[in-house]
This record gives sequence, C-alpha cells and structure tokens, in this order.
Amino acid sequence: MVSRVIPVDPFDLVVFGGTGDLARRKIMPALFRRCAAGQIPDGARIIGVARHGHDAESYRALIAESLRGEGADPCHLEGFLRRLEYQSLDATRSEGWDGLGIGMGQGVRAFYFSVSPDLFGALAERLHAHGLVTPEARIVVEKPFGHDLESARALNRVLAAHFREDQIYRIDHYLGKETVQNLMAVRFGNMLFEPLWNSQYVDHIQITVAESVGVGARGAYYDHAGAMRDMMQNHLMQLLCLIAMEPPAKFDPDAVRDEKLKVIRALDAVKPHHIVRGQYADGEGCGYRAEVGDPRTTTETYVALRAHISNWRWAGTPFYLRTGKRLVARSSVINVMFKDAPHSIFGEEAGRHANVLSIRLQPNEGITLKVTIKEPGPGGMRLVDVPLDMSFAKALGPENQNPPDAYERLIMDVIRGNQTLFMRGDEVEAAWAWTDPIIAGWQARGDVPKPYECGSTGPGDAELLMKRDGRRWQGINP
Ligand code: NAP
Repeated sequence: MVSRVIPVDPFDLVVFGGTGDLARRKIMPALFRRCAAGQIPDGARIIGVARHGHDAESYRALIAESLRGEGADPCHLEGFLRRLEYQSLDATRSEGWDGLGIGMGQGVRAFYFSVSPDLFGALAERLHAHGLVTPEARIVVEKPFGHDLESARALNRVLAAHFREDQIYRIDHYLGKETVQNLMAVRFGNMLFEPLWNSQYVDHIQITVAESVGVGARGAYYDHAGAMRDMMQNHLMQLLCLIAMEPPAKFDPDAVRDEKLKVIRALDAVKPHHIVRGQYADGEGCGYRAEVGDPRTTTETYVALRAHISNWRWAGTPFYLRTGKRLVARSSVINVMFKDAPHSIFGEEAGRHANVLSIRLQPNEGITLKVTIKEPGPGGMRLVDVPLDMSFAKALGPENQNPPDAYERLIMDVIRGNQTLFMRGDEVEAAWAWTDPIIAGWQARGDVPKPYECGSTGPGDAELLMKRDGRRWQGINP
C-alpha cells in the first residue's frame, strides 16, 4: 500500500535560525523529503534567516551539505535548493525586515522560530511592527516553551499580543511520530481496546523515554533545565495525555486538546517518595559533571516517577514515567500492563500471564500486543506469551517501513493549518503548574540526584519505586 501524498498550496516559510543545528539536522531535511515526495508545489518559497551574511548561493551550499546523508537524487536536490532563499537579519534589530516581506504572496506564510527562546518575543514583536502578520500568517515555536509556569505565561502573553491562538504552533515533535497518531487510531478506531482502557482492566502504565547519548553540545542549556524540564514536562506529559484522555467528540484540534488538558488538570501532586532523580556518574570516559564542566552540579539527567490521575477512568491506576540520558539503549515505549486474568483454570504451574500492549515510538515504530497461548507440542497445557506484532512494514508493505519523520508531518500540518498535534497555550501552562512544585520541592530540600552508571537502566532507586508496589519495569531494549 503506497501512502498518498496530497500537495499543499504554495506558501512562504521563513526559518529564523536557518543556519542552526535544528534547521540543518531536522527542518531542512524534512522539507527536502516532502519536496522529493512531490508535496511542495512550485510556487513555494523557503527563506532561511540568521545574522550571518550568506547570499542565496552560499546558503544553498550550506543546506546541500547538510542533506548529503539523504542520498538525494540530484534532480530532487536541485528542485529543492531552487526554492531556498536567504535573508540576513538580526532578530533584535529593526534593519532588514522590510526586505523579508518582498515577494511574499497573500497565501500561507509561516514563521518558524528555530532560535534561542530569548528571541521569541522580539521576533513576534518585529513581525508585527513590520506588517508581516497577515490573517494567513502563523508561527512555529520550538521547545523549550518557558522555564516554569511564570515564564511560560509571560511568553504566552507576548505571543498573544501579536498572534491569535490559532496562529501559534507550539511544537512537540513526539506528537508528530507515526505511532503516536496510531495510538489514537488504535484507541478510538477500534472497539477492541476502549472498553478495557480503564482502572478495572489496566493494572498500570509505563512510559519510558530512554536515550543512550549524553548531553553532548547542549550542556550549557541542559544544566539549567534537567530531565524534568527538558523531557518530562513536555514529551512524557504529552504521551501521558494521549494514553489517558477520554475520546474526543471529533478529531479536531480543540476537541483533542480539551481532552488532553483535562488529563493534566486531573493529575495529583506527586509525592516526594514517588520520584527518583538521577545523574549519570563520573566513570571512565563518561560523567555528566565532567561533560558540563561543573563538579558540583545537581542537575538531574534521569527522572522516574509515579503519577496518579484522579478521575473515574483512572482512579487507582498508577502511571510510571521515566526518562534519562546515557541509558543502556535508545528506546521510547509505552507499555499498557493489563491485569492478570481473575482466575487461572490451568492451575498454578501454568504461571501468571498478563497482556501487555507495547507502543514503540523509537526505534522500530510499531505496536505489539502480548497475548497468552498454549505452548505448541504434546507436553500438556503449558502457557506461553507471544507478541501479536502490528509493525507497519509487515502489515502495510515495505514502503511504509520508514514512516515520515515527525518534522515532515508537523511542518506540513503548519502549512495546512491543522493544530491537532501542537500544544495549546493553556496545556503548556497546566503542565508547568504540575511540574513546578516538584522542582521547587527538590530545591527546598537541597535534593542531590542519585548517581547511576552510564549504560545502565538508571539508579537502583527507580527499581525500588516499582518493587515497593509489587511491580517491575519492562526492559529498555534497542
Ligand atoms: P543553534 O544551532 O545555536 O542555532 C541558532 C540559530 O539562530 C543560528 O542560525 C543563528 O545564526 C541564529 N541566530 C542567533 N541569534 C540570532 C539573532 N539575534 N537574530 C537572528 N538569528 C539569530 O540552535 P539550535 O540547536 O538550532 O536550536 C534552535 C531552537 O530549537 C532553540 O530554541 C532550541 O532550544 C530548539 N531545539 C533545538 C533542538 C536541537 O536538536 N538542536 C531540539 C529541540 C529544540 P547566527 O548566529 O548567524 O545569527
């Protein structure tokens, strides 16, 4: 089955920070792939903006260099580069803005803020002051969206002064992943799961976002953020919302986001003994403190916590969330752990078997349902757990083995004006309102994160968090 490509209308896309890491590693490759797939029409323009004095040719060469790994067909590459332009501009100064508007049509114009968050306010104000905000204009705002509730509110206020909420696209690339949308399709497109999707049948839910890499070049930013702000407040919170939310009345942006917001607002405050903070320890060739050059930093690179949602559907069902860097493997997975059958007719020797629905976001996006069957062969009624695999490649053919990258889908959604997979301002604020007291508690108690070995599954206390409840984490597998 070949996936359908529906071309969008011509547009102008301005990428502020067009020479930066995110633009070169994610945004431009995503646009290139959409262009090669035939989704970007001839009249579309992509304008990179930064302070550095490129001209169109040297900018195209810079972007061509970052597309080298794409194995690009020269014809596709040429077609894409032709659409690229460059404008040198300092977001904090008034010069050069009028030039940016030259050649822009009356159709969709999107402004992607791929710059430091300190510049978001200045960009919004200058776009407005120079008359670039038309009814069809929209902005894409990268993470982090604020540092806490107060700064997120301030940023929302600045953006709201110049843009309507339906013009603001707060990006969380986890929401653009194929499997995340599949999660909604599986939940709300089938009769099978939804009747079981509650505390009566689900024992608990585990959400793991594990990275095998360390902070790398992002040390300066990360040391002021930590895993709670960098991952938990946004990516894991969004996954939690999609797993736990009620069925929206329709698949439209506000209906979906209203339901997600209700989940965040129903979250209980997390008790201090239900959180484990960790930091990858100084060991041979690996250590967070050495990497960021601060021997005393207490920033966490790992968090595991137990969350509760106080509503009818989920009362009594714990949600265990964990995320960390330099763990044993790169793996993002949601495991819905169903309860054991109430009574085993096969006797004690058959053991206890519970169904697990695993939603893998990376690597190898796909969904697996672990079911219990009879072990084949003579030997009596022995039970064994086997996976029912809903991997895309097997079901839909090899051409669907590599679904589009999240950025490809999200940027095209911006152009089409579909906000379903973007966070609304009140959602972001509610997430900070839940996160802030946790961080404030650590600061008030002078909490020091538990060290863990690089390449491990995290601090031992995270295992204890589960063990105390008679449960254990599923493995972190590549
Ligand atoms: P970066 O590599 O430091 O790039 C910053 C870009 O902004 C450069 O193109 C820079 O070019 C431009 N710039 C800086 N000051 C400017 C100014 N005053 N006016 C106009 N342009 C200016 O940063 P990045 O890693 O691409 O990150 C960009 C944004 O994405 C940040 O908000 C970051 O938090 C977010 N983000 C990044 C990643 C990632 O993987 N990189 C992931 C998630 C979110 P000049 O110096 O020539 O002006």
